[in-house]
Amino acid sequence: MFDDLKGKRVLITGSTQGIGLAAVEAFARAGAKVAMNGRRIPADLEATLARLNGLGGEVVFLQADVSDSAACGTLVEAFVERFGGIDVLINNAGGLVARKPLPEIDDEFFDAVTDLNSRSALMVTKHALPHLKAAAAQNGTTSSVISVGSVAGYTGGGPGAGLYGAAKAWLHNIQKNWVAFHTKDGIRFNMVSPGTFDTAFHADKDEDTKARIGSGFPMGRFGRPEECAPTFLFFASHACSGYITGQVLDVNGGQYMP
Ligand code: NAD
Repeated sequence: MFDDLKGKRVLITGSTQGIGLAAVEAFARAGAKVAMNGRRIPADLEATLARLNGLGGEVVFLQADVSDSAACGTLVEAFVERFGGIDVLINNAGGLVARKPLPEIDDEFFDAVTDLNSRSALMVTKHALPHLKAAAAQNGTTSSVISVGSVAGYTGGGPGAGLYGAAKAWLHNIQKNWVAFHTKDGIRFNMVSPGTFDTAFHADKDEDTKARIGSGFPMGRFGRPEECAPTFLFFASHACSGYITGQVLDVNGGQYMP
């Protein structure tokens, strides 16, 4: 079904675990050339790469802290040096940083949350833009930018997560501008907006708490990272979504219906 992803060059930020790692695996299985990115070198990197490279594609690791704008540029350069261009960018890096209610928010925390969730996606996309444009022109189809939003981008977020929710809503919004001004470059911009997924993101909750929260969703449970991965393949594949841009696909088990 995703035959056109074979050989595609895919950069996925924040992908050493959770939703990002499941996406790396899915693209590798589809025969893509993928860069897994993280702030730090994972302890089990060699074994992880050996496993990922046995799936049918080609996977490398590129270290970069994408909350640092200079590092976003360096990451894109390193990717292009390795693979010769970019067909698909997935802005997945993100997180709460910490839970802080309004009275506790200071400039340092504001910067940390927005740098990680908003500015990182903007800067990596900015640096990737000429390469995505060149790839689209070269292969006569479209390149794809997929950003990861959140249910919190609609609801405002849970306790202490207001700034995080706002940073994700910012992404949901700025994508509209990118669509308006860069569709002519052959680039599609879409967003995957997860609900509540069982990853390190929820490491502050024990299993009973997760089960109790999950039981309140129509699907009755948290999502699993591999259940989000196919949506990235869909938006990356020109054959599947060549006429789809500017959309947000909600993967949330019915938790929220915008
Ligand atoms: P996770 O914490 O398991 O993974 C986050 C990944 O981002 C890790 O690989 C980490 O190394 C990387 N990362 C963090 N800071 C980074 C930085 N500065 N530079 C580079 N990489 C960095 O979380 P996850 O649940 O897999 O989250 C993936 C995305 O999904 C995030 O954008 C998150 O906001 C979003 N999301 C998650 C949920 C959920 O319930 N899990 C819900 C909505 C949205």
